[in-house]
Amino acid sequence: MKQLVRFASAGIPIQCKGGNLEAVECSRKLGLGAFEIEFVRGVKMGEVKAREIAASAAKNDVLVSSHAPYYVNCCTQEKAKVASTIRHIFSSARITGLCGGTITVFHPGHYQKLGKEEAFQAAKKVLLVINEKMDAAKVKCALGAETVGKKSAFGGLEEVVRLHEELEFVWPVLDFSHLLARGDFPCKTEGEYRKLFAAVEKRIPGYGKDFHSHFSSIEYTERGERNHLPISANVPPYKPLMKVLAENGYSGRVVCESPRLEYDALLMQAEYLKHA
Ligand SMILES: [Zn+2]
Repeated sequence: MKQLVRFASAGIPIQCKGGNLEAVECSRKLGLGAFEIEFVRGVKMGEVKAREIAASAAKNDVLVSSHAPYYVNCCTQEKAKVASTIRHIFSSARITGLCGGTITVFHPGHYQKLGKEEAFQAAKKVLLVINEKMDAAKVKCALGAETVGKKSAFGGLEEVVRLHEELEFVWPVLDFSHLLARGDFPCKTEGEYRKLFAAVEKRIPGYGKDFHSHFSSIEYTERGERNHLPISANVPPYKPLMKVLAENGYSGRVVCESPRLEYDALLMQAEYLKHA
């Protein structure tokens, strides 16, 4: 059977009452096949709750993922910050795994005073330590390196693809609005979306069959991202992306990070299904 792309809201849908556990069943009732838990302000969930989420996700056929805390920086040169980055990403992956989730998305870091290559090597070192801890604790969850929206941030398209090439446990997460805002990839027309996927697939064969992505519209300046907007702002446009995903038979997840969360996720899904 053809695997369709699944759509999720980034965090508890606006219409859902309750917490992350209730949001799983609620997502299914709304017609969404995925849900991304926001650990962006810290991983405060316990093991019991995580296991309840895993059971509900299996019962409702909802794929779970998460977003790790914002305040991590894999490129940092400060010892205390290295330790806290390792701790936050590791605990996000551990709890996500217990939720039955397969990927936790993180923002790779900031260059600060480092050159691009130095930043890459610093991030690689930190990610290797996290992976060792995950192996020791038998955590099965991919680390999703998100393409960032600011030029001062480490995590351009080239960098996240290269991270995967050198560390197979890192999986690139395409944030289309960030790619546009940072100037990494235009993301405006069907042709550009096609080229983007082709470029990633050339380096990571099969990526389109298991892609993970974030979508919203965006306001940006020459320095990059400023603000996420509803998808009706059409920057970048979602309709050509939905057509490309359907026509190429890609499967994976689109997590909606617009302020309209599930409402926009459902709009994208309806557009996608027109072509699937
Ligand atoms: Zn993010």
